[in-house]
Amino acid sequence: MQYVSTRDTGRAVTAAMAIERGLSTDGGLFVPAQLPSLPAGALESLRRMDYRQRAVYVMKLFLEDYTTAELADFAARAYGPKGFDTPKIAPVRSLDASTHVLELWHGPTCAFKDMALQMLPYLLTAAMGKNGEDRQVCILVATSGDTGKAALEGFAGVEGTKICVFYPRDGVSDIQKLQMTSQEGANVLVCAVNGNFDDAQAAVKEIFSDPAMREELAGRGWMLSSANSINWGRLLPQIVYYISAYCDLLNAGAAQAGEKVNFSVPTGNFGDILAGYYAKKMGLPVGKLICASNKNDVLTDFLKTGVYDKNRPFYTTISPSMDILVSSNLERLLYDLTGMDDRETAGYMEALKRDGRYEVTPRLKTALDGLFAAGCCDDEETKDVIARCFKDHGYLIDTHTAVAYGVLEKYRRETGDETPCVVVSTASPYKFCSAVLEALGERPESQGPELIGQLERASGVPAPMPLKALAGKTVRFRDSFDKAQLPDVVRDFLK
Ligand SMILES: *Cc1c(COP(=O)(O)O)cnc(C)c1O
Repeated sequence: MQYVSTRDTGRAVTAAMAIERGLSTDGGLFVPAQLPSLPAGALESLRRMDYRQRAVYVMKLFLEDYTTAELADFAARAYGPKGFDTPKIAPVRSLDASTHVLELWHGPTCAFKDMALQMLPYLLTAAMGKNGEDRQVCILVATSGDTGKAALEGFAGVEGTKICVFYPRDGVSDIQKLQMTSQEGANVLVCAVNGNFDDAQAAVKEIFSDPAMREELAGRGWMLSSANSINWGRLLPQIVYYISAYCDLLNAGAAQAGEKVNFSVPTGNFGDILAGYYAKKMGLPVGKLICASNKNDVLTDFLKTGVYDKNRPFYTTISPSMDILVSSNLERLLYDLTGMDDRETAGYMEALKRDGRYEVTPRLKTALDGLFAAGCCDDEETKDVIARCFKDHGYLIDTHTAVAYGVLEKYRRETGDETPCVVVSTASPYKFCSAVLEALGERPESQGPELIGQLERASGVPAPMPLKALAGKTVRFRDSFDKAQLPDVVRDFLK
């Protein structure tokens, strides 16, 4: 199967190429030239498999240039007992007959980014071998908090790679910051950026699309790649858990074969929910995809009006991984819904760059209406949801999951749609202790990892081991930089 750029379908590359490059040189994102369908009877087979086998099955449909044996080896290493604290990897927990939670935070960094970033290093280093690439690769990551740590954890110590992570200085939680700045390994660098996530992401995108920089680094034996969800190798492993969740519902008798299920997804860069869209297009019986935002509600407005407008205030919220005004992966959705029209897609992206705004055609708006519902929750509502979910179900959720849960409640009230729904749970509540404690009516007694014990006492829910272990860690990285300094930071790192 070939991959093409969303801004130029004329350039087809292999999967290994798309994964190695991360971003197309025309600024577009790589997408499959043709989306595969789930073969007849696939769900019947998949429901009998464990998570790793499901991952191999689904990924193989997209990766013709990787062997099944290779993928099985990657899945065994990525989704093994060393990284994940449950053999189910991505378990589904039912709160009532029609409300289910897909827990995607059982990996080493306790956020859903692990689902893809435990796999990506294997896909990427194999891709370089397949492509005959003899340079070393440096992964550049802009993070709103969780991607950075998950990417560091995935790439630390991986032969032939370095990884450099940029996070917004005041835009991540204390725990997220400590998780990153205490990262061990000789091939890692972590920098704070004076600005917000969009600034960090824009700076990284500029480095990628600077031919002079590319050439300079190539001369020194380095190439750049991305671990952000603009990389196809990030998105693909995410399709797996939508299909896996559906299989688990079938096995639990919570859905009948062919019955539609909705998914409510806490959304920032639109990577997670886009994977759900691809699963639906492949033939998974998905009803509505509910796009849940925090107070940065640019996507809610977009899905309701067809106008994407990032000219608005940026808010720092208690769900920082969704504090984003430019959702990169939306470009892949637009490309698909325009009927793979690279000109129209490029036009929207040009308008976004020029005016910070674009409006889709009425035809495209109608397509969006059929697929998505959207809503948002501010911080107060989010805390109320955490408290209510804990009281009603004895189930503790994090601030991001709470946004998805709150938006689902609103959606059900407004539409009366009682289709079974899976709330996609993207982080452990222990990554956001202070906000979760406040939601439970507790006053945080200290800060950072010291709050973990307090939250355990307040909730009776044990904290994940990797977060408990943070208390004894040393901070290795303290520097912060302006956006304009980042190219030099990268140059120095690759000296
Ligand atoms: C990254 C992240 C999100 C948003 O996912 P996108 O793919 O960027 O839409 C939501 N919740 C958590 C906890 C995250 O880390």
